[in-house]
Amino acid sequence: MKVLKFGGTSVGSVQRIKEVAELVQQGGSKIVVLSAMSGTTNSLVEIANYLFEKKNDLAADLVEGLRAKYHKTINELYKQDEILERAKELIRSHFDYLLAFTQDSFTIHEEKAVLAQGELLSTALFQLYLEELNVKSALLPALKFMRIDKDLEPDYFYIKENLNRLLEEQKGIDIFISQGFICRNVYGEIDNLKRGGSDYSASLIGVAIKAEEVQIWTDIDGMHNNDPRIVDQTSPIQQLSFDEAAELAYFGAKILHPSSILPAKKANIPVRLKSTISPKAEGTLI
Ligand code: ADP
Ligand code: ASP
Ligand code: MG
Repeated sequence: MKVLKFGGTSVGSVQRIKEVAELVQQGGSKIVVLSAMSGTTNSLVEIANYLFEKKNDLAADLVEGLRAKYHKTINELYKQDEILERAKELIRSHFDYLLAFTQDSFTIHEEKAVLAQGELLSTALFQLYLEELNVKSALLPALKFMRIDKDLEPDYFYIKENLNRLLEEQKGIDIFISQGFICRNVYGEIDNLKRGGSDYSASLIGVAIKAEEVQIWTDIDGMHNNDPRIVDQTSPIQQLSFDEAAELAYFGAKILHPSSILPAKKANIPVRLKSTISPKAEGTLI
């Protein structure tokens, strides 16, 4: 089994979602880990900040703005009325949940629940799209297996036991879809693996299922020899050792979450960085 993680830009538009749906139908069985659609987590952070500041009207305006964006997406994405109705219901439930925080007290725990909505939405909408295509798939709720311990480190035993049990319960499915980024903490509350944490989710899942490979699909064709946001004419590196990749990630190569390589290194699982924009490009093999 492989793990394929698609970042925010890779699921950030109707066109991209359709391309990812094509990609995940190729090859054998897999767990597809999705980020929130690009921009969503930033908007959720803004909403949470307004709620902390008790600027609830501003928070409500942002919630409605984001809701409108999702309505536009689903109206373009789904063709079947029945599926579109289910998507509308999904959006209604997630956004009414967000809106309810504008009527209530707000703490750090609620903030984590607010931030989780992006990945919960992207995965549910993607799975619904596969259903429209008549492609058999199932959701694997990260909140049922992804967990951090009292030191905020991954609870490897809990993750492994629960993830493999959930997989066992759904034999005959080749495409599983799970949320990156989100998890529960030692108290069972909703938490997350910090910004950019979907890469970390993918590698933790890879370790838990002893995946043959973890693929990180993003908007660039692999790890470049320099930060392309700063330096002109950078080029992709074909191969890197775990240590080289971990060092680059640690020192700010945004393509990978700084903690994401260590679990893969320990379990000796190859990590491949690939581009959803140019899927034929070789990318980087770690
Ligand atoms: P995703 O949303 O898919 O997780 P990110 O934005 O987190 O994507 O990571 C991909 C981005 O990382 C690229 O678009 C690029 O701008 C940036 N980046 C920074 N340093 C590097 C590097 N050395 N090689 C490749 N990409 C890099
Ligand atoms: N959606 C989260 C973020 O924007 C996690 C991720 O994309 O990796 O930070
Ligand atoms: Mg990222």
